Amino acid sequence: MTLLYNDPCFLAHETGHHPERAERIRGVEPRLRQNGMAGRCTRPNWEPVSRRRLTRVHSGTYIDEVRAMAKSGGGEIDSETIVSPASYDVALLAAGCVCDATERLVRGDDKRALCLVRPPGHHAVATRGMGFCLFNNVAIGALVAVEELGIQQVLIVDWDIHHGNGTQATFWEDRRVAFLSIHRWPFYPHTGDEDETGGRAAKGTKLNLPIEFGTPREEYLDVFRSNLDRFAGQVRPQLVYISAGFDAHRLDPIGGLGLTTEDFGTLTDAVLDVADQYAEGRVISVLEGGYHPEAMTDCIELHLGRMLERAIRPAG
Ligand SMILES: [Zn+2]
Repeated sequence: MTLLYNDPCFLAHETGHHPERAERIRGVEPRLRQNGMAGRCTRPNWEPVSRRRLTRVHSGTYIDEVRAMAKSGGGEIDSETIVSPASYDVALLAAGCVCDATERLVRGDDKRALCLVRPPGHHAVATRGMGFCLFNNVAIGALVAVEELGIQQVLIVDWDIHHGNGTQATFWEDRRVAFLSIHRWPFYPHTGDEDETGGRAAKGTKLNLPIEFGTPREEYLDVFRSNLDRFAGQVRPQLVYISAGFDAHRLDPIGGLGLTTEDFGTLTDAVLDVADQYAEGRVISVLEGGYHPEAMTDCIELHLGRMLERAIRPAG
């Protein structure tokens, strides 16, 4: 089985005429029902993230600022990062479901989880949201694993077309959480050069793979696979997260690195391979970007399909 977190609550983060809008994920549930995948997944109930867990990544001042902005009817963190009246509560639920998936996987309830959350998280840093992101869902979840559940080594694989600057910054000095990001370069948010490998206490635990516009997709896939295999062998993660953005798809209006829908199956397989090899198969995939609703729905269908298919295959 696979844990699937996909809930109408994530539609309530209202952003208006914005690429990161509810419409992105509206078509996913009908598709997963139509193809039978919804019925093959476990649908857990979960709680909003606690203040204690949230403050491991974000400052109290910033958290209160988002809450106050939502309560007063909404506003903007910056020109592209929107807070609607429901956004604070929705963002707590988004981070909460990554925490819940983490607890369930470490407890042994399941091997895979897919969290189809909004707002996304990987750009959010300690003291501010940016790039459509409010709270860093994947970072909050990874810290539950290492601070509370006895996991000693985590790997976060970020294939969103944008560099996961917030995730990298959170773990810059933390060896316990390795980070691999493949992203378009140069591009927003202008971090993620290959010489960024971690702070003094964590040198070599961050791996950035910048890809220039126009790079053939075969080359992109080769770079991803070979570096992931090597890096995972070095890191030996006990738990793997994916910051799963689908904005490198060729139809995406923002990203555009020319990947096909099938290529996201290849990326998924590569991560499942290293999870099977080192992490008892444990993978938690968390939605980040992806701005062509139909292409993204196709990609999510394929991504979840691989997780389901591989989850029932016997080990070895
Ligand atoms: Zn992105």
